[in-house]
Amino acid sequence: MSGSLLVDNIGELVTNVAGAGEGGPLGIRRRAAVLVEEGRVAWVGPAAIAPAADRRVDADGAAVLPGFVDSHAHLVFAGDRAAEFAARMSGQPYTGGGIRTTVAATRAASDDTLRETVRRLRAEALRQGTTTMEIKSGYGLTVADEVRSLRIAAEASDETTFLGAHLVPPEYADRPDDYVGLVCGPMLRAAAPHARWIDVFCERGAFDADHARAILTCGQAAGLGVRVHANQLGPGPGVRLAVELGAASADHCTHLSDGDIDALAATRVDGSDGDGGHTTTVATLLPGAEFSTRSPYPDARRLLDAGVTVALATDCNPGSSYTSSMPFCVALAVREMGMTPAEAVWAATAGGARALRRDDVGVLRPGVRADLTILDAPTHLHLAYRPGVPLIRQVLHNGVPT
Ligand SMILES: [Zn+2]
Repeated sequence: MSGSLLVDNIGELVTNVAGAGEGGPLGIRRRAAVLVEEGRVAWVGPAAIAPAADRRVDADGAAVLPGFVDSHAHLVFAGDRAAEFAARMSGQPYTGGGIRTTVAATRAASDDTLRETVRRLRAEALRQGTTTMEIKSGYGLTVADEVRSLRIAAEASDETTFLGAHLVPPEYADRPDDYVGLVCGPMLRAAAPHARWIDVFCERGAFDADHARAILTCGQAAGLGVRVHANQLGPGPGVRLAVELGAASADHCTHLSDGDIDALAATRVDGSDGDGGHTTTVATLLPGAEFSTRSPYPDARRLLDAGVTVALATDCNPGSSYTSSMPFCVALAVREMGMTPAEAVWAATAGGARALRRDDVGVLRPGVRADLTILDAPTHLHLAYRPGVPLIRQVLHNGVPT
């Protein structure tokens, strides 16, 4: 589809361009319009002086915001762990060991089965307003299975992450050093061409700081950016390691010491282009995991008050967080994690973009990708105010209405 498209009659436009309007970082404009040309935002301004366009989408006074940027998801898997969820809800604790169940099912699945799961979940997320979605490997844990996971992920997203170090697979249980050698050597060599990022589950029972550092350093040498599963199940070295290695994101951040928060805050840099500054290592919070494992939520307030940039993501995976819904995560963040609705919406859009080091998504200004979500609501506040309600009326992805 070519030609220009005007999204007109927007009651509340969240731009995430600080200083462009009300609402601080949200940069809210009233009675606005957005012109889209060739998949990009060409103009943003008052509806009353909007330029002409070939086609028009009438927002009918509703709120419009940048598409959600989900910077943490595990979509390449097979199998179902509903029974494990039910067991947890009857009192069993979450340990992370169920990942092995999914590894077995994923290895046994055909490419088409995996591809269909990714397609289905990606479409499900898009219907809920997610226009950028990072996708990790990590349920193959052999050279061949990690590479095919990444190939399939790359068909659905340009944000792919090599997570060969999700867990030590059973066949290496008594020789984890050998598995780390495999991940750093043949597996990384085969995986790197299909990945933008490398990630490690740095947690008791998964990979300790020395193993995680070795793997992430090899990944960096192979040209991959770093992200870390850090401090989810208990206090640990993950956040400090993320900061030490200049990671784009430390993810989970559920159990943080004051020193962890100081370390994240120390990565703060001054803003350019009207943004008020940010931390180069973002704290990505995944409240779907705490919800689904009935665990205490991370304290977003503490991070925000220390000046740490916060992102929200789904952690969509079959074990510990089987939701693809960013609106659900926004509602949890507001209700359970001390975030204001504005902070949560920013974290789910611009914050996710920061966590992926992207400046062409999560924001609405001329030149960026035309990813817009039109709500069935007059204001972004409704995302937390009306939890569980399908509020996404229409999505534009790369300028194309869905
Ligand atoms: Zn994860």
